[in-house]
Amino acid sequence: MNRLCVHTITTKPWSIEEAAENFAKAGVSGITVWRDALDGRNVQQTGEMLRQHQLEIVSLCRGGFFPSTSAKKREEAIVDNKKAIDTAAALGAPMVVLVCGADPGQPLSTSRKQIQEGIEKLLPHAEANNVKLTIEPLHPMYADTRSAINTLAQANDMAESISSKWVGIAVDVYHLWWDDLLQSEIMRCGRNDNLYAFHICDWKSPTEDMLLDRGLMGEGCINVPEIRGWVEEAGFEGQIEVEIFSNRYWEMDQHQFLDQIIKAYQNHS
Ligand code: ZN
Repeated sequence: MNRLCVHTITTKPWSIEEAAENFAKAGVSGITVWRDALDGRNVQQTGEMLRQHQLEIVSLCRGGFFPSTSAKKREEAIVDNKKAIDTAAALGAPMVVLVCGADPGQPLSTSRKQIQEGIEKLLPHAEANNVKLTIEPLHPMYADTRSAINTLAQANDMAESISSKWVGIAVDVYHLWWDDLLQSEIMRCGRNDNLYAFHICDWKSPTEDMLLDRGLMGEGCINVPEIRGWVEEAGFEGQIEVEIFSNRYWEMDQHQFLDQIIKAYQNHS
């Protein structure tokens, strides 16, 4: 379990303090912090609290949402992303994960151009704060409003075009499992030193909610061990992050859910 990281949103009913205590007790080694988990808290002290529990802070979720038909909104996104970078630095998180965004009022190619411009604008601030920016391609079902970057090839293209050690990629099995180019694109990502994060869960069949019905590893149709094998073959040695949004799991006792996460991590990842 020395590489198991759990996202705060996975156990959303717990406060970050409860999550830290229960993750540590269960032997979880890392935590990815969602910004809402920090509401009303001193960020620096919260980072210290997590480190006192021997939890590695893997990343801060999330920045992004760069594209818009409105120049004013694009500018506001830059301001918000700078705040996310400041938060990550105060927390002691080495990277901010980017849900890059899309605006249904314009072509995806325009949104992708605005995403790249947004990331490039942030680079000096990221470097000054020693915080990396991680592009997470999202499943095409979210291409209308959440992300115009929908394949690992598109993410690789963009990271290679920006070509900065401050910009890399998060591979999430939920978003990418269906892609017949996944193996070769993971290798390409590793070869270019752009593979910064690896997120796991499963795709339930049927999926009842496009956002909030993710499954535990082993519960659906994603071959998580195979994809993990490719990611490790590509040189990734970081934490394996369990990221599950699920109304069904949020309704149950979170201690029992955490036990199930650990079993699924051990047996199906
Ligand atoms: Zn993810």
